[in-house]
Amino acid sequence: MKITRISAHRVELPLIEGAYHWSGGKSVNVFDSTIVAVETAEGLVGYGEVCPLGPFYLPAYAEGVRAGLRELGPHLIRLDPRELGVLNQRMDAALKGHPYVKSGIDIACWDLLGKASGLPVCMLMGGRFGESVRLYRAISQIAPDAMAENVASYRDQGYTRFQLKVGGDPDTDIQRIRAARDVLRPSDRLVADANTGWTQHEAQRVVRAVADLDVYIEQPCLTYEECLAVRRNTTHPFILDENIDGLEMLFRAKADLAMDVVNLKISKLGGLTKARQARDVCASMGIAMTIEDSWGGDITTAAIAHLAHSTPETLRFTSTDFNSYVTVCNADGAPKREHGFMKASDAPGLGITPHFDVIGPVVLEVL
Ligand SMILES: [Mg+2]
Repeated sequence: MKITRISAHRVELPLIEGAYHWSGGKSVNVFDSTIVAVETAEGLVGYGEVCPLGPFYLPAYAEGVRAGLRELGPHLIRLDPRELGVLNQRMDAALKGHPYVKSGIDIACWDLLGKASGLPVCMLMGGRFGESVRLYRAISQIAPDAMAENVASYRDQGYTRFQLKVGGDPDTDIQRIRAARDVLRPSDRLVADANTGWTQHEAQRVVRAVADLDVYIEQPCLTYEECLAVRRNTTHPFILDENIDGLEMLFRAKADLAMDVVNLKISKLGGLTKARQARDVCASMGIAMTIEDSWGGDITTAAIAHLAHSTPETLRFTSTDFNSYVTVCNADGAPKREHGFMKASDAPGLGITPHFDVIGPVVLEVL
């Protein structure tokens, strides 16, 4: 099997809530997502999706996905897409860094491996653990009472885990955490995700002010060292996200006992191959995981479901059904949330078929 063509489509994903706000006043109204198609001489086509959380979250931006594909694509023509180790080594040799650019190609090649072998991706990644995957709902940063109302409303839809977007004014964030915890049942899990938005002294004030509450703290500060200092001054369960961009940081954080849960995002790590490697390392070391991506639509959600469903349940903290946040359906066959859970498809590959009328014309092509 040989890759003969790599192409991409650009699709806009407007938000059901109109906008998504997080730390430092950052927000997105319409996500800019890239659908990557990898075609083979045998006629099979695999699909992937990459959707940065705007240009100011991780070192990634939407037009960068397309520019990177133009740079990287010519190095991959005639490779066998089923040889994912070979493919990833070639991508890393041809383009230093830029993991998010490589993610869409890697996901599309997993889709192809599944289609070629007649197996769902989750089967190829270790098999299916449990019936379904538990989801969290991200609560966009607005006024404390309004956030608490949204938490209650999403809980009524079946979610039991919630990620509050904090990282704003610390006094308001304390109110946000208290108001949200107040509307939850004891068994519900609440995460306060500051997305690097607090300085170290602000983070110290917030964790002390909510010391009596059952709440997880996620990525309070910009640097790893600041987060570690906060971690060492709190008994709250602690999650690292933005700082953990590969195995080196994962091992360092494990050695420092810097986190209880890690947030693994497929495009942050460079695709399903590297996310699975990190997942397997975490599973071996007993680190619980949130398994997700930066953002996306149906194809991203399908990729998340396969990686998450093939992860041992005891270490699977949460995942995200991004396709339920946006107004556009870009593929058939993607998981649909049921009472706060989703399942990976049983169909070969990712189990999705893009809606070509939605994803629009080809915006770049490499032959
Ligand atoms: Mg996070």
